[in-house]
Amino acid sequence: MNDNQLILTLFGATGDLAARKLYPAIYRLYKNNNISDKFAVIGTARREWTDDYFRETVYNSIVDEITDDEDAQEFVSHFYYQSHDVNDGDHYNKLKELSDSLDEQYDIGGNRIYYISLNPQLFPVITHHLTEQKVLTDNGYNRLIIEKPFGFDEESAIELQKQLTASFDENQIYRIDHYLGKELLSTLDEFRYNNVWSHLWSKDYIDNIQISLAEDMGIGERGAYYDNSGVTKDMIQNHMMQIISIIGMDNPQNKSSDGFRQEKINVIKSLKTFDSVEDLTQNVIRAQYIPNAQEGIVGYKEEADIPADSQTETFFAAKFELDMPRWEGVPFFVRSGKRLEGKYTTIHIIFKKENEDVENNYLRIELAPDMQIQFFFNQEKPGHQGGAESVPMTFEYPEVVQSEIPHDYERLINGCIHNQLDHFVHWYEAQYAWQFMDHIHNYWEQLDGQDMKYYEALSSGPAEADTLTENHGTKWYDCIDC
Ligand code: NAP
Repeated sequence: MNDNQLILTLFGATGDLAARKLYPAIYRLYKNNNISDKFAVIGTARREWTDDYFRETVYNSIVDEITDDEDAQEFVSHFYYQSHDVNDGDHYNKLKELSDSLDEQYDIGGNRIYYISLNPQLFPVITHHLTEQKVLTDNGYNRLIIEKPFGFDEESAIELQKQLTASFDENQIYRIDHYLGKELLSTLDEFRYNNVWSHLWSKDYIDNIQISLAEDMGIGERGAYYDNSGVTKDMIQNHMMQIISIIGMDNPQNKSSDGFRQEKINVIKSLKTFDSVEDLTQNVIRAQYIPNAQEGIVGYKEEADIPADSQTETFFAAKFELDMPRWEGVPFFVRSGKRLEGKYTTIHIIFKKENEDVENNYLRIELAPDMQIQFFFNQEKPGHQGGAESVPMTFEYPEVVQSEIPHDYERLINGCIHNQLDHFVHWYEAQYAWQFMDHIHNYWEQLDGQDMKYYEALSSGPAEADTLTENHGTKWYDCIDC
């Protein structure tokens, strides 16, 4: 039996994520023959939808991707809807009946993916019922995909892990961090280990590393969610940690998913915690955006659903260090924020200077808005001008290839189908990331907002963030014009 013949049961089928990301991703997999014809999708949520209405919704969500209408109609005919309240035990019996009959109809042979796209508080009740009521099969694989967030601190994450592993083994749990679906990030380990870069990838040649996850948008209508989360829980504990771990990891001796993830775990575990409140405030900056009257943009505290005395950070910058021989003395400068002057996701690897008269050579890995890798190096100015200047060598995907690059969720669902666990977050990555962030949050509680800084909306962030890099004799390498 092939891995790509399966029933995918989606909890949260009427939700925003399903329509915007998941149905188009499944359609692209189908169009590219990465899913067998022997497949069915069961969509569930509480709303009373019919199969026809569900299929129409799926069709509308993939309309931009359709190249052959007959094929698209065939695709949506594999979708079935069941009205299902995840708290109602009876509904799982119906789900089992429907799964078994579709399995027979499409000759599937037992493979199941359960994709939970719901509030994480509901994860355990679903996994409990799936096992207790024997919805899981014993003649194929049973895999669980879950959306972020995985807990809101270490304690809640441990509790969630305990509940999930009562029903699914760790190797059956696929924790989504959609950054791991990004083309350049998911191929970065290959890039790092090519024979040129691998020799340079350490404290011997690298001066500092910078990672920027910048957004120009505010919080939109997500105020209630965001104020409980802030940028540290929304971006740093998950996406930033994933990037740090891929940049910082040692070359795995064991080339399996387990070997890869073990090296990433080692990196997150090796993040040095701060010794005192003073140590923290010197190395970690949190800030909130304030109005930009000229652009007619309100400040964070004036956004809908945000309390006027909110101490939630919309910007975070820090100097992190890793307790690893490879990175001794090499700072990782990280920053992320809302309502910054641009939207970009970049990694800069700044090499040590050859001498004081030249700029640093550096690599810019741009994950968004464009996908490209540039190496900026010192080159003699042309003619008789004298002196050197920094010039780029650029790799970017040709336009024709760009349209073929899998979208984030397409790569991740395909990864689950083919048991590529390295595209997903291991429990220990989540746990150590929380441990590290909890440490920072505990100091912040003691500080009670005294260290909060402010920045004008659509600016480059608070001036204090620049001090972090200046103290190391460097600057933030921006991407506003890249
Ligand atoms: P959403 O639009 O609010 O959808 C939630 C879904 O849950 C709906 O289909 C809702 O349908 C269903 N639901 C709620 N309670 C239920 C219950 N008791 N039984 C059965 N179904 C129930 O949320 P979303 O934006 O799609 O996000 C889903 C998950 O993905 C969340 O964990 C979120 O944190 C995560 N996520 C979302 C995004 C994004 O871009 N949207 C990005 C990253 C992560 P009914 O009301 O019909 O029951």
